[in-house]
Amino acid sequence: MKKLAIIGGGAAGVFAALVAKSLDPSLHVTVYERTRHLLSKVKISGGGRCNVTHSCFDPKKLVQNYPRGEKELLGPFHKFQPTDMIQWLEERGVDLKTEEDGRMFPTTDNSQTIIDCFLNEADRLGVTFSLGKKIDSIGGDDQGFILGDERADIILLATGGHPDGHKLAAALGHTIIPPVPSLFTFNVPSSPLLDLSGISLENVEGSIEGFPLKLRGPLLLTHWGFSGPMILKLSAFAARFLHDCQYQAKIVINWLTLDLITQKNNHPKKFLSSVIPLPKNLLKRLLEIWEFDDQPLSSFKNDRLKKLSHHLSHDTYLMEGKTTYKQEFVTSGGISLKEVDLRRMESRLVPNLFFAGEVLNIDGVTGGFNFQNAWTSAYLAAQALTNSL
Ligand SMILES: Cc1cc2nc3c(=O)[nH]c(=O)nc-3n(C[C@H](O)[C@H](O)[C@H](O)COP(=O)(O)OP(=O)(O)OC[C@H]3O[C@@H](n4cnc5c(N)ncnc54)[C@H](O)[C@@H]3O)c2cc1C
Repeated sequence: MKKLAIIGGGAAGVFAALVAKSLDPSLHVTVYERTRHLLSKVKISGGGRCNVTHSCFDPKKLVQNYPRGEKELLGPFHKFQPTDMIQWLEERGVDLKTEEDGRMFPTTDNSQTIIDCFLNEADRLGVTFSLGKKIDSIGGDDQGFILGDERADIILLATGGHPDGHKLAAALGHTIIPPVPSLFTFNVPSSPLLDLSGISLENVEGSIEGFPLKLRGPLLLTHWGFSGPMILKLSAFAARFLHDCQYQAKIVINWLTLDLITQKNNHPKKFLSSVIPLPKNLLKRLLEIWEFDDQPLSSFKNDRLKKLSHHLSHDTYLMEGKTTYKQEFVTSGGISLKEVDLRRMESRLVPNLFFAGEVLNIDGVTGGFNFQNAWTSAYLAAQALTNSL
């Protein structure tokens, strides 16, 4: 009987075990987990609701949500994408629902539903779990791999962002892209907007001076600075840039683009507050900061209005630190993708060594994309390794 050793009992490791065992019931599958708990991140994910995936079914659009892995995930998503995961869960009695922003959760709003589904399936298929078992070396001889006092023919490394997995892969010759945090909110202690915390805007553009990307989306004012989907996305794409500048950077907010001179020509009697569509309190504060009274447009000279238009589209704040986003945070970095055959999720350096999940240098923005990477890579690895036996 061939033996598959899966290192890591998280989303990728457990899902890979289920797929491998169902594709080849004769395979002996053991999941080694260093803690006493399986799927612990699934449990706390999405605020306890588990944002399983995202309702984005076009692989070309889907990959745009991965700051690391965009190019490399296109092929894998053609083979296993959100529809496949939705169907896999449906076939096992778990229905998902889609929220307005595209995030998908179990209809129970409870991550335990996913855990119960996986563990029942593992029980039915006969997957073995070895809990409290930390793997700290992978050896080998001509008969296969050696993990402490146990042997395996095939290994799947699914240790997530944990340094253990990076050490194990590095010891086998793999290059590790140094991990840095992704998905965080921006601290702006000098912001004059801190007491306006709670105001959210649907469609604001944000960028970081020196980083070539502008992103549009919802922005949330917080008592420590800026948050909301647009900021989290910006933090993910600029994760390494911001790390390198120690989270000290100029953030440029484009509240809106408005030609106030044209507005003046068309509606000279209108007040600033009636032509600038921003939340009342926010606009009042911004006008105070920029020293504009809320007067009819006709009372302003054109160069003043030009200046105000510029302020509205180029409002600069000093980021001084970051705050972890507790609903979902991931590490950017991991095993270099150049050394992995992403069609099979197999090492190009060590035959029969496979990878899945966050251990790879792949990470997504918030919204269910990180789990989707875990499901897809786990599925492809399980399929490839059972085919190769
Ligand atoms: C608070 C929080 C909420 C999140 N919410 C969401 C969400 O709603 N949607 C989403 O898409 N993503 C979410 N994420 C991200 C998502 O959880 C991860 O991307 C995903 O869990 C990665 O799966 P993985 O199996 O690769 O790694 P993990 O889930 O981290 O699992 C790795 C496992 O390997 C084990 N391990 C490590 N080293 C060893 C060793 N030497 N021997 C044995 N075992 C070892 C670890 O203990 C761990 O159990 C969230 C993350 C956090 C932190």
